[in-house]
Amino acid sequence: MKEANVPFLDLKAAYGELQPELDEAVLRASRSGWYIGGPEVESFEADFAAYTEAKYCVGVGNGLDALTLALRALDIGEGDEVIVPSHTFIATWLAVSAVGAKPVAVEPALGSYNIDVDSIERCITTSTKAIVPVHLYGMPVDINPICALAKRYGLAVIEDAAQAHGAMVGGKKVGSHGDAVAWSFYPGKNLGALGDGGAITTNNETIASRVRELGNYGSAVKYFNNECGVNSRLDPIQAAVLSIKLKYLDVWNKRRQNIAAIYSQALTGFGVGLPNAPEWAAPVWHLYVIATPERDALQSRLALAGIQTLIHYPVPPHLQKAYRPLGLKVGSLPVAERLANEVLSLPIGPQLSASHVDYVVSVLAGARL
Ligand SMILES: *Cc1c(COP(=O)(O)O)cnc(C)c1O
Repeated sequence: MKEANVPFLDLKAAYGELQPELDEAVLRASRSGWYIGGPEVESFEADFAAYTEAKYCVGVGNGLDALTLALRALDIGEGDEVIVPSHTFIATWLAVSAVGAKPVAVEPALGSYNIDVDSIERCITTSTKAIVPVHLYGMPVDINPICALAKRYGLAVIEDAAQAHGAMVGGKKVGSHGDAVAWSFYPGKNLGALGDGGAITTNNETIASRVRELGNYGSAVKYFNNECGVNSRLDPIQAAVLSIKLKYLDVWNKRRQNIAAIYSQALTGFGVGLPNAPEWAAPVWHLYVIATPERDALQSRLALAGIQTLIHYPVPPHLQKAYRPLGLKVGSLPVAERLANEVLSLPIGPQLSASHVDYVVSVLAGARL
């Protein structure tokens, strides 16, 4: 019998908490007369650059475009290799493929979900042009040694920060360690719009203006096109929404941190793999992911108790039909493959109530693996 209904993430409740302010922002943007670009976009870009401690922010249509345009702005394309994590959301790989380059996968270290920094160097070839590390699940990757390695080999670093708004590395915000940092404002992200949205942040003015140009048909001056760009711009209504939500990001991240702390304490000694933050890392818990070979049984058990969990992600990119042409067979990236079978994301979100968190913990405690 269902004793409760604990949603994985309640986006409607998130909207509800800020409804008067969000409605006002949507109306303001609607009445402004600016429907592409304009003051709402400029103001959000300035605020988000400041928040991420970066010099520039350029809004784009979504997170995948942010990655793709950043790669293009760094002249990565046909014939190039780009190092990506084996364990990530497929968009990280799709961006590399979109520019005609080849994704080269590096596995996570055991006990971590992020790319193993020590395994990157042996995957560098004469064709390698860039590394795209991902701050997966809101846990920052060890970015400083990655940037140092990239510098030694003359490689670009494009960070995929789609799950890491507000995360910090050694007290410094994710946002300007690499050459460019790609962000998604997909509704379920820590900083989510009421639709699609994305951005890049960078300290490099050339990259910033090139991304802006590429996302605007390759044009800096209307009707004069320097290259074959695309149409990928941050919508002013979404920018207005994001400006409001940015003010609450730290508070909402703090709530995620509190939930994560409760989970971590309750699940220590429970016999499942737990996420752990290195001492230099300030994670923002986009997801709270445990790992166990009994994953499917545990997920069913939780579902029976009315608790919704998700799997991020059930099939690793290299085993997707889309990547069959790479010829990577089952067993070629065993860590990513094992994680696909073992990871389970527990409910977490700024609107998850304390009583629901307690309930999840009590059901987990009774699950006895
Ligand atoms: C969400 C996400 C993306 C893509 O962002 P969209 O805005 O959905 O295109 C890329 N990388 C990671 C790690 C993501 O979680």
